[in-house]
Amino acid sequence: MPVCASCKEEVDDVLTVKVKGRNKKLCEDCADLVREEAEIAEASEEAVRDMMGYKGRW
Ligand SMILES: [Zn+2]
Repeated sequence: MPVCASCKEEVDDVLTVKVKGRNKKLCEDCADLVREEAEIAEASEEAVRDMMGYKGRW
């Protein structure tokens, strides 16, 4: 049985998820978490970029 790289649980199916450029084999739960985290990180990066953009315009 494949083992999740994050929670070390044995699962029927692991999903390959790209985390910071590396492929990780995760169970569905961990894959969801990682995707959420990536989205949050992306959103905050965008927010920072927006702020810098506004500063540049001033
Ligand atoms: Zn897991």
